[in-house]
Amino acid sequence: MAVQTVASATPTVDLGPAAALSCRECGHRVPLGPVFACEECFGPLEIAYDFSAYDAEELRQRIEAGPANIWRYAPLLPVPADVADKPNLNPGWTKLVDARNLARELGVTGGLYVKDDSGNPTHSFKDRVVAQALEAARAFGFTTLSCSSTGNLAGAVGAAAARAGFRSCVFIPHDLEQGKVVMAAVYGGELVGIQGNYDDVNRFCSELIGDPAGEGWGFVNVNLRPYYAEGSKTLAYEVCEQLGWRLPDQIVVPIASGSQLTKIDKGLRELVELGLVEDRPYKIFGAQALGCSPVSTAFKAGHDVVRPQKPDTIAKSLAIGNPADGPYVLDIARRTGGAVEDVTDAEIVDAIKLLARTEGIFAETAGGVTVGVTRKLIEAGVLDPTLTTVVLNTGDGLKTLDAVAGTGLTATIRPNLESFREAGLA
Ligand SMILES: *Cc1c(COP(=O)(O)O)cnc(C)c1O
Ligand SMILES: [Zn+2]
Repeated sequence: MAVQTVASATPTVDLGPAAALSCRECGHRVPLGPVFACEECFGPLEIAYDFSAYDAEELRQRIEAGPANIWRYAPLLPVPADVADKPNLNPGWTKLVDARNLARELGVTGGLYVKDDSGNPTHSFKDRVVAQALEAARAFGFTTLSCSSTGNLAGAVGAAAARAGFRSCVFIPHDLEQGKVVMAAVYGGELVGIQGNYDDVNRFCSELIGDPAGEGWGFVNVNLRPYYAEGSKTLAYEVCEQLGWRLPDQIVVPIASGSQLTKIDKGLRELVELGLVEDRPYKIFGAQALGCSPVSTAFKAGHDVVRPQKPDTIAKSLAIGNPADGPYVLDIARRTGGAVEDVTDAEIVDAIKLLARTEGIFAETAGGVTVGVTRKLIEAGVLDPTLTTVVLNTGDGLKTLDAVAGTGLTATIRPNLESFREAGLA
């Protein structure tokens, strides 16, 4: 067997149609690699593609013949063409629920759909983004998958690494809720509690990336962030395909760092440019919890800059006080004619219960945020109830049981009919 040198073991990186990294601020291009900030202006790098060879009709047929997961869109993602044959969790192709009962309750006549990402392998949307980062990690020869997380991401990374045969080492604040710790630890990777808050965890990870101790490590949301972020485009692709290759008129998206919202917009624009959907106006609405609402606050004040906040809300998966993509979210909401709104913790709980009781979908707090904001924007006359509207539920309610802990027994009775009648249940 030939002995490979390091150089020949890492030939030109094959990440399918991904051609380079390009700075979102100044357009400076660099070759594909595990970097995330522009060397010229420190702006965020994102993937630039070469889609020039695609014919719309051929591409549509190829997608429709693809697997029932995100890899049906492999021709539009930074992944090798044979990605579906590699061991990974195959997330995506989650249900787009025609939410007629909720529509009736909210007075929506133009069609209301819930894109239910609780159906992903680790029960949140994070499996989509981690799957892209995993392919980048393979391409760059990393052997350890890592991240800083407050919950959902830790589980998604642990599971993806287990399946793909990577080592995983995930960093979380040491005092996270027991449920989230178990959810992240059960996949057998290393889970390290950092004595500090999420910001301290992030700072530590940045230090580790620059140190020899972090060599061979792919941090999905740091040095692999440009690849990771592209996974959110698959939400846009799926929604359009599930609507019959049609853009939604309005879409309501939760905001943590704002990455998901900006990449959903990127995905929708790509489908228009590729000729896969008709070019019609669409509006993107951002949703936050009042207890962590830096982007909605800036939107309402007409500001271009997002002032950081100290989060205090039950919607912990969205609790990023200094969202990296905040300014881009403001641009997109304004350009498309959308808005960014927030709801209180009480409104989040109400909305979780509303969605559960009308559609049988148990959402995590992030889903309570989007449904609550949808209701608020309809009542305010901002969302048009006569248009097709898609609301994202990005996680499973079992992840945030505490939020609805007050919900329980209707009655406690003795095991006889008399007691049943006495309780007024007959
Ligand atoms: C991470 C996450 C989001 C979106 O996060 P962004 O940083 O804005 O991309 C939304 N919902 C849930 C449940 C999440 O875990
Ligand atoms: Zn730049």
